[in-house]
Amino acid sequence: MSGSCHAGNSRVEARVTARIDLAALRHNLARVRACAPRSRVMAAVKANAYGHGVVPVAETLVAAGTEALAVACIEEALALRGAGVRVPIVLLEGVFSGAEAQLAVEEKLQIAVHSPWQMELLQASFAAAPLELWCLLNTGMNRLGFVLTEAPALAAAIADRPAWRLHGWLTHLACADATDSAETLRQQARFDAALKGLVGERSIANSAGIMAWPSTRADWVRPGLMLYGASPVAGQSAEELDLRPVMQLESRLIAINEIGRGARVGYGAVWSARAATRIGIVAAGYADGVPRSLPSGTPVGVGERVVPTAGRVSMDMLAVDLGADARERVGDPVRLWGRGVPAEAMAARVGTIAYELFCGLGPRVRRVYEGGAA
Ligand SMILES: *Cc1c(COP(=O)(O)O)cnc(C)c1O
Repeated sequence: MSGSCHAGNSRVEARVTARIDLAALRHNLARVRACAPRSRVMAAVKANAYGHGVVPVAETLVAAGTEALAVACIEEALALRGAGVRVPIVLLEGVFSGAEAQLAVEEKLQIAVHSPWQMELLQASFAAAPLELWCLLNTGMNRLGFVLTEAPALAAAIADRPAWRLHGWLTHLACADATDSAETLRQQARFDAALKGLVGERSIANSAGIMAWPSTRADWVRPGLMLYGASPVAGQSAEELDLRPVMQLESRLIAINEIGRGARVGYGAVWSARAATRIGIVAAGYADGVPRSLPSGTPVGVGERVVPTAGRVSMDMLAVDLGADARERVGDPVRLWGRGVPAEAMAARVGTIAYELFCGLGPRVRRVYEGGAA
């Protein structure tokens, strides 16, 4: 679970550490419960729990009462079962082959079917198998999901197979992060209309739906990002939403250079000092997950201060402008994101979202877990 070039060697400190605060994860789950007290929670732990490390995250969520977990593919589900996680696990993209369907049956995984070809696959070879199914409806995102008018036929086809069980109906929101968009309520209205008179539980809301669209909470909510403590809603910070960042990406200063006015820093010499200053070199680069496209001037935490980056991010390092009067020393801690420097803010600087930063951690970053005991 550590996965770094120092993995298994406790005699060396990691260059770059993703400090994962499991107490913050529990706090954020409590925020989900507070927002959606009548809904059950299907926590999105796909993509290695958004880069946070799937097994410790899943174990913490399950111990805190999460009713189900959601993953993108069978490998992710098998890793959880292999680690002894026993709660229901939903395959959000369903199964891609008969072999996967067989594994899903053996491991009691719930399959979200989204396309006619998947129903045909299951009907052809698994008609008598104890399948646990969700049906994903396309209410306007046009990514995955059945055409709305097919819902009654799907319900009938599943009811026809005594061994099959229909848990319920899913749809996914395209614009829930934009609180001024009418699309969310249109999607919800299409979902409700398509399911009129049909039985089965319903699930619509991702994190942004949970926080910004109360009417979408339904029987099951499917939080991802908010569990990891980043804001899912445009224009509102995690702090304002009382979400606590779970991941802090940490490194250290490994050199401090005094440079004169006009001196340049880094590849391409794109940054130059307006006045004499001290440049701190941080042992973290794009191979660790700090985007190369990060512009100069992006705030990062050094000790108790926040200072701007200077010049291009390289593979293993980046530079910060500490200022002429800097007191920092080699070895001082650096926070690329975490306390005081939200991942959302760095993501916005490079035109992306916190999700992509979390998922983009390099393989040599060591994950360290804190706050494990409830
Ligand atoms: C990833 C995912 C979620 C969680 O989304 P967040 O925006 O991270 O809360 C919910 N539902 C589906 C279908 C997903 O793929």
